[in-house]
Amino acid sequence: MKAIERVEDVRGRAREIATSVVAEDSAKEDREGAWPERSLRALTDAGLTALHVPRELGGHGLGLEALVVACEEIGRESPSAAICFGMHCVATAVIAAKATDHQRERYLEPIAAGEHLTTLALSEPGTGSHFWIPETQIEPDGDEHILRGTKSFITNGGHADSYVLSVAGVEAGGGEGTFSCVVVDAGSEGMEWQEEWVGFGMRGNSSRAVELRDVRLPRENLLGEPGDQLWYTFEVVTPFFLSAMAGTYLGVAVEAVEVARDHVGGRRHSHTGELIGSDPVVGLRLGEMWLEMERTRQLIYKGARAGDVQEGDALLAILGAKAAAADSSVLLANEAMTLSGGRGYAEQGKLTRLLRDARASHVMAPTTDQLKQWIGRALLGLPLV
Ligand SMILES: Cc1cc2nc3c(=O)[nH]c(=O)nc-3n(C[C@H](O)[C@H](O)[C@H](O)COP(=O)(O)OP(=O)(O)OC[C@H]3O[C@@H](n4cnc5c(N)ncnc54)[C@H](O)[C@@H]3O)c2cc1C
Repeated sequence: MKAIERVEDVRGRAREIATSVVAEDSAKEDREGAWPERSLRALTDAGLTALHVPRELGGHGLGLEALVVACEEIGRESPSAAICFGMHCVATAVIAAKATDHQRERYLEPIAAGEHLTTLALSEPGTGSHFWIPETQIEPDGDEHILRGTKSFITNGGHADSYVLSVAGVEAGGGEGTFSCVVVDAGSEGMEWQEEWVGFGMRGNSSRAVELRDVRLPRENLLGEPGDQLWYTFEVVTPFFLSAMAGTYLGVAVEAVEVARDHVGGRRHSHTGELIGSDPVVGLRLGEMWLEMERTRQLIYKGARAGDVQEGDALLAILGAKAAAADSSVLLANEAMTLSGGRGYAEQGKLTRLLRDARASHVMAPTTDQLKQWIGRALLGLPLV
């Protein structure tokens, strides 16, 4: 497949799939808690799951801005599908960051060919929202490693072909909070999936837990050097993970403004014959919604573009991007529901789903409070964690 050159081409391809397959399936997936299989297939067939594979391996070699754009467009129709897509992209970027020849051949080339889906598994039940502190242990054993522990809330859980995990232990460099990343193939003996994910929102993303009972892993599946934890966390996971989530929840904010605009710009009361939107209070509230969305959009794209060219002030905007997207998506889905009246409040309506999905943004680590704290610490020149 020909490499995608421009970010706007990513938007075009993502929009086309979002308004067709993703939009067609999103209500049913939410109702049934079903993983968005058809949407992921369509995104793969359009080459979008190869966004972060280097060009020399058949991918598009794109960065954070492309990730935000794709997640925004998919997120407008299904935040669940956007996060499933986004976590594949983050894990791809982690594998690509320091890939060996073996890892290129086994993971990155199949991803470029649309034959492999991966995902990120950092969170654990013990350390919760402190995703940078894994307790899953890695232990050397001859030519292999042995993994023991539990990973929780794995988006694409049970559906991906491989899982990028953070692990702690001797091989990870030792010491509290140190870890390395490994890639584990689906179906490895000793991986025991826990119950299905049933969320308040984000119901289509199969965020399941897996227990790792003495899972044997070839040594060549260690990513980077033992104890590369700070490098992976801050150079790869943080910018890609935050951009995927910021794009997804920006999609909710954008769509909330559109839904509200459609309603107040299309509905007339019979007794006046006037559009609801011509009421000064309604017009003002719609204007405020747009301002909130646009401020958030500008911050998110500033962070992604600055990150792509490694500008010095990228970090603050990237941290702020997910926090702002979380605040805006919940606020605007809620506001849109007010302006859309009884129709917007319908149980199976799009806004109901968007509002429930948006609510996950404050829970998904780094949480909004953590991000704001980190911005403050960065401004003071203190270490983030
Ligand atoms: C839909 C969904 C998808 C997810 N997908 C993935 C995934 O693909 N990969 C992955 O690795 N993880 C994923 N997660 C996990 C997620 O990122 C969080 O790590 C996890 O939900 C938080 O763990 P916990 O429930 O134990 O929260 P707890 O650790 O119990 O925290 C509860 C709350 O306490 C507050 N809090 C805790 N610590 C602090 C602090 N230091 N500062 C400020 N406030 C704090 C926050 O409000 C937090 O929400 C997903 C979660 C959800 C809901």
